[in-house]
Amino acid sequence: MNMADVHIVGAGPAGLFAGIAALRSGRSALASEEHSRVGEPEACSGLISRSGLEALRKSAGVDYSRARINAINSAKIVCGKEEFAITPKEETAVLISRSEFDGLAAEKFVEEGGRLELGKKVTGDFQSDCIIGADGPASLVAEKFGFPKIKSYVASMQGDFAYECEDAHCATLYLSSQDFPGFFGWAIPKNESEAKIGLGVALPRHPLAYYRRFLAQLGVEGKPSHEFAAVIPTSVRAKTAMRAGKRNVLLAGDAAGQVKATTGGGVFFGASCGMLAGKYADAPEKYEKAWRAQYGLDLALHSNLRAALDLAGGQPPSVMVSAAKALFFDELLSEKGTMDRWGQMATPSTLATYAGILRKKLVGR
Ligand SMILES: Cc1cc2nc3c(=O)[nH]c(=O)nc-3n(C[C@H](O)[C@H](O)[C@H](O)COP(=O)(O)OP(=O)(O)OC[C@H]3O[C@@H](n4cnc5c(N)ncnc54)[C@H](O)[C@@H]3O)c2cc1C
Repeated sequence: MNMADVHIVGAGPAGLFAGIAALRSGRSALASEEHSRVGEPEACSGLISRSGLEALRKSAGVDYSRARINAINSAKIVCGKEEFAITPKEETAVLISRSEFDGLAAEKFVEEGGRLELGKKVTGDFQSDCIIGADGPASLVAEKFGFPKIKSYVASMQGDFAYECEDAHCATLYLSSQDFPGFFGWAIPKNESEAKIGLGVALPRHPLAYYRRFLAQLGVEGKPSHEFAAVIPTSVRAKTAMRAGKRNVLLAGDAAGQVKATTGGGVFFGASCGMLAGKYADAPEKYEKAWRAQYGLDLALHSNLRAALDLAGGQPPSVMVSAAKALFFDELLSEKGTMDRWGQMATPSTLATYAGILRKKLVGR
């Protein structure tokens, strides 16, 4: 017997936003979470575009302000001796506490009538014929129903350290195919004297030795107040929804691989695709079509840039940084860049801005 119209496995952003959307489409929803508290243990940097957080606030009513830690207004990309600054005119980011943010989403889900079952690891005892697998990168739901595999993962480590930040509102990204093969390193300030410092390396490498070396290079000493290791999917599954007998099974968030392959950012896309999964919980084909139509191009563009960076892995990525600088992409990103929706940058207005930058640089007016 169905205990709810929709059974959501996993109460991270994808699952909770799926639950909110399912309730709003008139269905009852049960979300099962294996941990005893939502959002814990925290395994995320929590850097999200302001536009993404605003979009989630407007669509689902989850106000992130209580979860806010710091405003991040610019980024510095360091690659050996080369540096590349991005100081966006409009798009800025917010560093949030993921445990707080997930807690706020859970509050909203319950307030709107959802049932949240904590400390419950689902092993195959599904409570409905509509199942949303929002159970993270090692999805049991995907495994049980034989979905195509995620083809690439990054292994990551991060700690919260005492760290003197040159600019408390600028995130620094480190590129080096030797020090961070297949990904990058980062230092994201929480304030003037504390930062989230971490890195990723493409699997099957183990991140620990790279992490220790990176901390030593930055001169980081002392114990972190919080530290974790986790994997990040960097490719989308070829199929994310199916009918299995009388069951409708949909995957959302990391379980589906709906993550930016460039940065590993998955909160905005996971929650947004989760909302579509909740809306189309009994129509797998519609879900697959809807999320690919809305976000497929964005994720594909992130994935193409990741592939280009990986191809350049044989030579120093500083070549790519220099090439990008020579083409004045740093200025274009500052003027028109968005962190998530790269598909939306391919507009006549962006091309006109780029033409203007080139003209000014090359012709001088
Ligand atoms: C080091 C690191 C840094 C990151 N930084 C950022 C960032 O700055 N910005 C950003 O946007 N993204 C970032 N991400 C990615 C982001 O954390 C994920 O994309 C996001 O958490 C995906 O949400 P989700 O709901 O799909 O999965 P999750 O958040 O993983 O939630 C899945 C939930 O399912 C539960 N679960 C799993 N299996 C079961 C089961 N069988 N039964 C019951 N419950 C189960 C888990 O306990 C978990 O709570 C980072 C990831 C890492 C590893």
